[in-house]
Amino acid sequence: MTALRGSGNLFGMSSPPIVYVDYNASAPLCAEAAAAMEPWLSGSVSNPSSAHRSGQRARAAVEGARAQVASLLGCEPMAVVFTSGGTEADNTAIFGAMGWPPRGHLVISAIEHPAVLEPAVALHELGLEVTRVAVGTDGRVDPEAVREALRPDTRLVSIMAANNEVGTLQPIVEIAAAVHEAGALFHTDAVQAAPWVDLSPLVAASDLLSVSSHKLAGPLGMGALYVRPGIDLVPLMRGGGQQGGRRGGTEATASMLGFGAACARALRQRDQAAPRVAGLRDRLEASIVEGVDGVRCNGARAARLPNTCHVCFARCDGNALVARLDLEGIAASAGSACASGVAHASPVLEAIGVPREYLPGALRLSLGYESGEADVDRVLEVIPGAVRGLRDAGLEAVF
Ligand code: PLP
Repeated sequence: MTALRGSGNLFGMSSPPIVYVDYNASAPLCAEAAAAMEPWLSGSVSNPSSAHRSGQRARAAVEGARAQVASLLGCEPMAVVFTSGGTEADNTAIFGAMGWPPRGHLVISAIEHPAVLEPAVALHELGLEVTRVAVGTDGRVDPEAVREALRPDTRLVSIMAANNEVGTLQPIVEIAAAVHEAGALFHTDAVQAAPWVDLSPLVAASDLLSVSSHKLAGPLGMGALYVRPGIDLVPLMRGGGQQGGRRGGTEATASMLGFGAACARALRQRDQAAPRVAGLRDRLEASIVEGVDGVRCNGARAARLPNTCHVCFARCDGNALVARLDLEGIAASAGSACASGVAHASPVLEAIGVPREYLPGALRLSLGYESGEADVDRVLEVIPGAVRGLRDAGLEAVF
């Protein structure tokens, strides 16, 4: 079972052990990352730009971490730019490739993460044309649809490698080839793909690729952008010329080392973990479908991440279900975003054509390298009764 334990609640009672099935939100910090960070958190001088020997030690450590990230990506270390996370990597790719002042046409898919979607909205508000390519009901972006969206003035196409909600994997190599034929740049958000997929073919096919540390069990607030050598990218963060002027700001030595160690761990564990976790996910999904009526699985007809199970229950409120599961010691996620207290249907589920009556009852269960049979058993023990309880109580959400 995932080794997370509640540390007690407000009333001094201890919480039940946590079954953590929310790895797509964040993977708990791994021991390797914690150990790599520890010496740099207490007392060490750690500005890698300092000329003295302490600074040089920090510089060597940071460059070692850059090499570890590069190994996971399958690229040269100089192509890795550290960022404050996946969001900054995506923003840098989009604003950086569209130029300053921005110009040209941008293509994205209808199921991008807000870290891509919002920069696209901002560029549209500045007067640029943005095309959103639709996805099929299987959650897959058709390379032909991308080809049709391309224009002579298209500067950048950004299509995510794996969707964070339903886990579908996109045919990145084919899409990138079509984009390059048309003379445009290609970026992929590989934040969710990174723990599970060999990134080398994606890196080889792309000009820009984003990853995030905390999805790989590294520290929060750290990530990286792969930048193909020779690509002219306008920096988002300007400052003291760090990272060759591609990302200003004093390097976060400890976080970079934690991220590097997490990448090395992923490289060691990924290929063994992926098929094992896919087996757990398949059992979880099959048993939910068998044990509860009025349920549908999303993204299951396409190639997808091995760890993600996304289901929608009819006549059920996903947010209320997540709260029920939480009370039972299960940390999961609803598929719907809740902004300013108002629940909205997930744009991703709408884009893949999930019928209206299923939209409010979304639940995402995402597994990690540490997940085991006991986690799946506990989730299966709780879900049917929790869904029934909410239905009996008439707790339905309507979007
Ligand atoms: N892109 C995808 C697909 C994500 O799932 C996330 C985080 O959930 C991000 C980008 C943002 O990454 P970060 O949390 O490191 O800013």
